[in-house]
Amino acid sequence: MGNKILFVASECTPFVKTGGLADVIGSLPQALTKTNKYKVSVILPFYKDMIDNWSDQMEKVTSFTVEVGWREHKATVFQLIYRDISYLFIGNDYYFSRNGIYGYEDDGERFVFFCQAVVETITELELEMDILHAHDWQAGLAIAFAKITLPSPNLKTVFTIHNIKYQGIMQKDAYQDLFNTPPDHIAGMEWNGLLNCMKAGIFHADKITTVSPTYAEELKTPYFSEGLHPMIMDRHDDFVGILNGIDLKEYSPLLDPHLPSNYLNAGPRKQKNKEILQQKLGLRENPEMPLYVMITRLVEQKGLHLIQAIIDEFLHEDVQFVLLGTGDDEFHDFFYHAEQRHKGKMVSYLGFDEAIARQLYAASDFFVMPSLFEPCGLAQLIALQYRSVPIVRETGGLKDTVTPFNEFTQKGNGFSFSNYNAHELLHLLKYSLTIYHNQQKWHSLMRNVNDSHFSWEESAIQYAELYRSLTESESTSKRSE
Ligand code: ADP
Repeated sequence: MGNKILFVASECTPFVKTGGLADVIGSLPQALTKTNKYKVSVILPFYKDMIDNWSDQMEKVTSFTVEVGWREHKATVFQLIYRDISYLFIGNDYYFSRNGIYGYEDDGERFVFFCQAVVETITELELEMDILHAHDWQAGLAIAFAKITLPSPNLKTVFTIHNIKYQGIMQKDAYQDLFNTPPDHIAGMEWNGLLNCMKAGIFHADKITTVSPTYAEELKTPYFSEGLHPMIMDRHDDFVGILNGIDLKEYSPLLDPHLPSNYLNAGPRKQKNKEILQQKLGLRENPEMPLYVMITRLVEQKGLHLIQAIIDEFLHEDVQFVLLGTGDDEFHDFFYHAEQRHKGKMVSYLGFDEAIARQLYAASDFFVMPSLFEPCGLAQLIALQYRSVPIVRETGGLKDTVTPFNEFTQKGNGFSFSNYNAHELLHLLKYSLTIYHNQQKWHSLMRNVNDSHFSWEESAIQYAELYRSLTESESTSKRSE
């Protein structure tokens, strides 16, 4: 077995998930392991929500005290081998025995503890590794702490930006209060007068990646970078966009145990899922009725202000619309009331539910994702796998994965619009209906959808190449010593 890699992250399927980050951390290690060049382990917080389903399969491997500034907190480390991958979980009741996983006022402190504990776990367990690969702000400080405190000059580090909107920002005086690193290291962790965990990752990592080539370009501009573009430009030579994939076995309409009717391609067996869903959700029962769905975190990023502006007009058409999501109150209220106005045609399922999500992907004809920005987006990739046609805005990974259908050349696997404008979206939604009702064009579009597969294979090769560039530069420097 080749190089050893340790992934550090805050969520991972099947243990804990709020969004696409969990899918990536749950599937990329397997894809890398399959290349036979890497052995990947994953380290995560041990959240309260995991206890019921997973704790009896875990084994306690060590415990120690972690200093968070003047505080002393116990970290207990558990291990679980799942599908040949070693997962380590860092437990601490005070920080992680809470409902949900983010959204607490002391999130900064919680992930300072986590990152400090990650680095101490490496020492305690004498983990041998070649590359520490940290994901998003919650893990950014693990790279900073490892670089500053671990005495291993050959350790290489990679930091992946999954979404720059969330940076883990704290007041500057938190450095003295929470950090144990020497005062002169504050410079690498500070941005615009505040502590910034994402900046710390970007600053200290040997290589930085993000999750699609288009988002990589977008992050170099002020509009998309949430203020960090000078930092990204500074690290320009070490920065690359690698498109996310999905686990095609996990997201397979043929194998998915959540579906009432498994299928391969669009046809009667797929349609059966629509009929059953219509019944279950109280929609008018008609399998010919085009069904549009959204499955999303309810945050501004996902283009929900556009949906707010046009949903009433669009529902004048002979269509049905189902939303599954949870997030900001503003959108909970909006979708709750929209359902009341459109009983029988629209359902708002306000919650997080993996089984319902799978049933919606399977039942739907169209998957709507008009994001303001979208680093990669996995939902549209899952939709393609379940033969639901994505309708997206041309940004980030949506632009890299959805090609607009051209009815003359018959090319394209979805529909897309470019400006963040509600009328453009409405126009496109109505246009998608005309294609749905044209049998010949719809079949051409579905043929292209059937051929769209975004597995990890291609992307794992690109990660492997990136890791190789790091480990080979290490052996070159060793040779020259
Ligand atoms: P993001 O990471 O920004 O949330 P992605 O499109 O990359 O967006 O990934 C979203 C993932 O979370 C998909 O697997 C999607 O099916 C899932 N998801 C989002 N909202 C829900 C929900 N309310 N219930 C179940 N799954 C959800």
